[in-house]
Amino acid sequence: MDKPLILVVEDDNAVKNLIVTALETQSYRYLTAANGAQAVLCCATHRPDILLLDLGLPDMDGVEVIAKIRTWSALPIIVISARSEDSDKIDALDAGADDYLTKPFSVEELLARLRVTLRRLKSLEGAASADSVFVNGDLTVDYASGFATLRGEELHLTPIEYKLLCLLCRNVGKVLTHTYLTREIWGTAFDSDIASLRVFMATLRKKIQPRAQDAQFIQTHVGVGYRMVKL
Ligand code: CA
Repeated sequence: MDKPLILVVEDDNAVKNLIVTALETQSYRYLTAANGAQAVLCCATHRPDILLLDLGLPDMDGVEVIAKIRTWSALPIIVISARSEDSDKIDALDAGADDYLTKPFSVEELLARLRVTLRRLKSLEGAASADSVFVNGDLTVDYASGFATLRGEELHLTPIEYKLLCLLCRNVGKVLTHTYLTREIWGTAFDSDIASLRVFMATLRKKIQPRAQDAQFIQTHVGVGYRMVKL
């Protein structure tokens, strides 16, 4: 991939300048938009590789921007929200955003998220040819045969643990919310399901990361959800 093109949608000039300066240090190409309508138009005309989207925009809700773009594009979307917009952040993830940054954030944090997203884009490009097997470090999931291995040894997973693992792997690099996961697994999203989800996630983790020195495949996002990290 050439240097990725990043669309920065932010109406606060100070934040926009911080982001743009950070992108310049990495020689990323970028475009900027200051409202939702411009963002949608710019996505359609310039086809950026990544969208960095502020949720509090003057003309429309960032979640609405995501919904519009998701009708025709799967480009990675990283949302930027203030702490007071925590529930918006979860709505944004459920609407199809891939990741989030909470204001105030550091330049290092921003660049790290971009690297995660770029790795994910690369792995998606590579996955087209070997779609039925997911490989991440020592972990392999053979979707077609329905089993997972760690260092070549078959993992003994319960059906729910396996389903959870598949959801995380198929969305590698993306933060999946509690609501998304419980809906996919049980078809509902009650608080009790979220409590069960935590239990299954803990047992799944013990199986795929049995030793203290094992790679941490699954990241916890407190109050939000989980992410499979591409190693
Ligand atoms: Ca704003």
